[in-house]
Amino acid sequence: MKRRLLMATGLSAGLGLMLMTRRTQAQGATLNLYSARHYNTDDALYGNFSDLTGIKINRIDADPDPLLERLKAEGDKSPCDVLLTVDAGRIERARQMGLLQTVSSAVLTKAIPAYLREPDGMWFGFSKRARVIMYNKERVKPAEAPTYESLADPKWKGRLLTRSSGNIYSQSLAGSMLAALGPEKAEAWARGIAANLARPPRGGDRDQIMGVAAGEADLCLANTYYLIGLMKSKKPEDRETAAKVGVIFPNQADRGTHMNISGGAVARHAPNREAAVKFLEYLVSVQAQRYFADGNSEYPVVAGIEPTGELKALGSFKEDDLNARVYAQNNAEALKIMDRAGWK
Ligand code: FE
Repeated sequence: MKRRLLMATGLSAGLGLMLMTRRTQAQGATLNLYSARHYNTDDALYGNFSDLTGIKINRIDADPDPLLERLKAEGDKSPCDVLLTVDAGRIERARQMGLLQTVSSAVLTKAIPAYLREPDGMWFGFSKRARVIMYNKERVKPAEAPTYESLADPKWKGRLLTRSSGNIYSQSLAGSMLAALGPEKAEAWARGIAANLARPPRGGDRDQIMGVAAGEADLCLANTYYLIGLMKSKKPEDRETAAKVGVIFPNQADRGTHMNISGGAVARHAPNREAAVKFLEYLVSVQAQRYFADGNSEYPVVAGIEPTGELKALGSFKEDDLNARVYAQNNAEALKIMDRAGWK
């Protein structure tokens, strides 16, 4: 009896100690975030997590390649808990470099559709980006360019703009073409794109859209949030640019529009693993998904959370549900194909 009482006291004392440690941990807990996302609106996204959990975020912002190099160089001494990137190609590269660890979280697998996450739980997509065709409304009717394939038609000679093949968005799109068409047809497609360009590739998506609005070309490839950014701009000239440009969601009659992601993962040697998983789970919460959608005009990944405003006004569309890891793994071969095709 006495012994049992002692044991119980010991147990409750132990529990108390455990709770105390938990609380101290929560108070002093930090999360080291390496981020390749550079959006002003993300401050609110991170601040909200700290408010909710008491976990302080130390953020290191850098361009993706230096970020991966840094992680690699730091090895098992790395303070990095969570890695965030734009584009599936980049986060997949981190996986291939052995910089990530598996996360098994029912919260994440339930919230994120399977095609938007790495099948072994190494990385997860938290927002979607649609890479679409944009056109000059005065010169083109949307039905004239219904698919990515149609952009290679000689009728568009000198009328198309796109980013360089060195850009990862281009590589992921070409990686999805490779998956859909096979290597020979994908190369013929890339050759057609290169042949149709109005000028050698330069600048970002925004530059391509401005080129189309200015009449330097009739069509371009770009992610939708760049156009929404122009629509929402405080500068009247940006809004005038946006008004001249329309959106075609490609391949609606077959596989759907190519979807890229902004992804996140727990770093291989994360010192604060628990906080890291908590952060990833936070990113699929309604609040965080709203930050992606309303702040940077990206599409939420979680079903039932709808885009709003200008993004919603673009309309709903069929998405290509090719697993993001597939086109991400195709990146390297896609780049070789684009090189051979003369897509600079
Ligand atoms: Fe971007």
